[in-house]
Amino acid sequence: MIPVISKLPQTGTTIFTTMSALAAKHNAINLSQGFPDYDCSPELIELVTKAMHAGHNQYAPMAGLPALREQIAVKTERLYGAVYDPETEITVTAGATQAVFTAISAVINPNDEVIMFEPAYDCYAPAVKLMGGVVKSLELEPPDYRIPWEMVKRLITNKTRMIILNSPHNPTATVLSEDDIEQLSALVKNQDILILSDEVYEHLVFDGDVHRSMARYPLLRDRSLIVASFGKTFHATGWKVGYCIAPAHLMQEFRKIHQFLVFSVNTPMQHAIAEYLKNVNHYESLPQFFSEKRDSFRNGLAHSRFKLLPCAGTYFQSVSYESITDEKDTDFALRLTSEIGVAAIPVSAFYRKGTDRHILRFCFAKKQETLDKAVERLQRV
Ligand code: PMP
Ligand code: GLN
Repeated sequence: MIPVISKLPQTGTTIFTTMSALAAKHNAINLSQGFPDYDCSPELIELVTKAMHAGHNQYAPMAGLPALREQIAVKTERLYGAVYDPETEITVTAGATQAVFTAISAVINPNDEVIMFEPAYDCYAPAVKLMGGVVKSLELEPPDYRIPWEMVKRLITNKTRMIILNSPHNPTATVLSEDDIEQLSALVKNQDILILSDEVYEHLVFDGDVHRSMARYPLLRDRSLIVASFGKTFHATGWKVGYCIAPAHLMQEFRKIHQFLVFSVNTPMQHAIAEYLKNVNHYESLPQFFSEKRDSFRNGLAHSRFKLLPCAGTYFQSVSYESITDEKDTDFALRLTSEIGVAAIPVSAFYRKGTDRHILRFCFAKKQETLDKAVERLQRV
């Protein structure tokens, strides 16, 4: 065996893969990995089929199908009042994961410092590390997980190159407020700090609040690489189509990496999405659609020993199980899967140090009958 020096020696298989496999093994209800158990629109599937029959089966242009980039520009202007040039500022990616990796590789050089907040989605820190960057993270405090901007200020040095944000936030289900935006703006003004903004849950903001995309604020937008995903928007996480929008000088660097990482993204799906995006009713109906699921799940768990944390967006509900057991969250998640038949994500997996606050994350993007069955089991715990 030829030895290799691991680039990520501490990294194992992701918690999403691990928990979904465990759920399958125990035939448990899988509320762990975030994906719907209902199908995407048949119309969307028809559009893909139509595109394939029309012969759209060869490479798409490297930056994405022009018609799709055009629709992304239309949507971004419509929702956030920001004009992005489809020619130079929008690139279609193989999901948000690839967009995140590409964005980080494009702008992070060895010893650059990147500020992020934990718990954090798992793909940011490894990408920074692979580029030789240094992660500077701040752990946020449940149940509100507000960003302590004064502490962020103290983390900034002349090596700070990027701040990574994610709103609506996975796993905490918080959203950035107007006050957060003001504090962030004051912090980065006159500094050479870029923002990577993971906005994959942009359409999943509840209770009449709005999504504060970096695109809305000129000062922030000019330094932001914004990442989005059609997986969440169209209930089609398996399609792995997303995009990045950024000012032209950043997008130019982004595309240099993108062209060698994937070159381009599957063509028929891009045709279908370009067409379906014109139907604004779809994404406009998502807050209602998902908040009904959230409310149903929360109402059910209100009659259990789990303590609900706030949920302002995304399709995740976190709960504290402190009044049930003092087991480690990884152990409890395992036991909940094998003995109770409901799989969840232990939130310690979203911390580089594995910080365990006895919190589990459930995905409520499920059919009503799935949620009912899960609630019934969880009420017994
Ligand atoms: N960012 C966050 C916060 C996510 O939750 C996910 C996965 N759902 C992604 C990025 C990756 O999205 P995609 O499946 O489009 O790669
Ligand atoms: N984003 C999904 C989640 O948080 C998982 C995606 C994945 O498995 N990579 O559950």
